[in-house]
Amino acid sequence: MTATPARVTAVDTLDVRFPTSRELDGSDAMNPDPDYSAAYVVLRTDADDGHEGHGFAFTIGRGNEVQVAAIEALRPYLLGRSADALCADPASLARDLVGDSQLRWLGPEKGVMHMAIGAVLNAVWDLAAKRRGLPLWRLLAEAEPEWLVAQVDFRYLSDALTPADALGLLTRGREGAAARAGRLRARGYPAYTTSPGWLGYDDEKLARLARRAVADGFRQIKLKVGADLADDVRRCRVARAAIGPDVRLALDANQRWDVERAVTWVRALAPYEPYWIEEPTSPDDVLGHAAIRRAVAPVRVATGEHVANRVVFKQLLQAGAVDVVQIDAARVGGVNENLAILLLAAKHGVPVCPHAGGVGLCELVQHLSMFDYVALSGTTEDRAIEYVDHLHEHFLAPVVIDRAHYRTPETPGFSAEMRPDSLATYRFPDGKYWAAEREREAAGQGG
Ligand SMILES: [Mg+2]
Repeated sequence: MTATPARVTAVDTLDVRFPTSRELDGSDAMNPDPDYSAAYVVLRTDADDGHEGHGFAFTIGRGNEVQVAAIEALRPYLLGRSADALCADPASLARDLVGDSQLRWLGPEKGVMHMAIGAVLNAVWDLAAKRRGLPLWRLLAEAEPEWLVAQVDFRYLSDALTPADALGLLTRGREGAAARAGRLRARGYPAYTTSPGWLGYDDEKLARLARRAVADGFRQIKLKVGADLADDVRRCRVARAAIGPDVRLALDANQRWDVERAVTWVRALAPYEPYWIEEPTSPDDVLGHAAIRRAVAPVRVATGEHVANRVVFKQLLQAGAVDVVQIDAARVGGVNENLAILLLAAKHGVPVCPHAGGVGLCELVQHLSMFDYVALSGTTEDRAIEYVDHLHEHFLAPVVIDRAHYRTPETPGFSAEMRPDSLATYRFPDGKYWAAEREREAAGQGG
């Protein structure tokens, strides 16, 4: 008996928003009141196995409906498509989506349309991993190097990374992979925490959370900076006093500064020995990052969460503009493009410390770092995944942090799936939470 080939029968989208701005969780110098949101997509098939592919783009509130509309523009590429072919070769879909000549005008390969492509591709990878019965990091780590190379789009990269380079890196990455997978399972992947350092927290809360982070085993915390220099000097002093001399203190300016201002600001904070300055200026300003890096060394320069695509990462590396590459699982063109970025970083010997937090970004990106450790870079030295301790409860398989390490996810898939009751409650604007919020507002105005 041959099974009927499975096809994609539905592409459902949801606008999901969490009211995080109420507590100033996630507040920084550029984003004072984010409502962490997901433009969420579910791929359903007619297969008997019942597996669905879940993916999302992360936004911070207003405009999430635009992101959802962008995902819906991709629906014709998915409906009726063979699920077997998609899962066997997600790159075939990546080429079609990136190559749509009319949609391409909206980028190319950047912004809302590209994030929509990322959401859809990540949903396909979630489906592929579920069908294989493997967590995504294992699917990637156990894949043949030739197949992984075929998942990467080398267009615009060949001056920095060729398919032969990639094959060499991945083939070497396989040596000792089984032993590293064992070590990863035993002790997890290092995490650092941003939870103490949101800009909206007062000094007492900052100090208390920083001390707790160290007690929990974290070897690095991160502080948001860039709104007011006198405040930042004071907050860095408070944080350094709380964590002691040996724990790394990373700073994140969220693109707040021009180049010269970045240099003077970071130099003013240098007495507190920051480990890196993250997003000192525009994510598009490759040469600006290079200039800042030269001027603030030994403070490292980190960026990537808003870097639009592999081409800009290529330039950042070619220009010697970054010490730390911060991939984001939900900004670029899905797993496929992040494979390209991990390979570029490996070729240049630059550590990858992913951006996470938001909603679901920790859940996703842990898979990419774990693959990188097991089967590509082969090391966790100077590497850690960002960790923020909120909104995990909305996921079916939330991340687990144990002694400041991400435990290996073992549930099949990409850990992307949100709980049905969370989707129903926080669907915007008609989910239970938002409907009640409107009633509260109406009652308040009427009083
Ligand atoms: Mg950041």
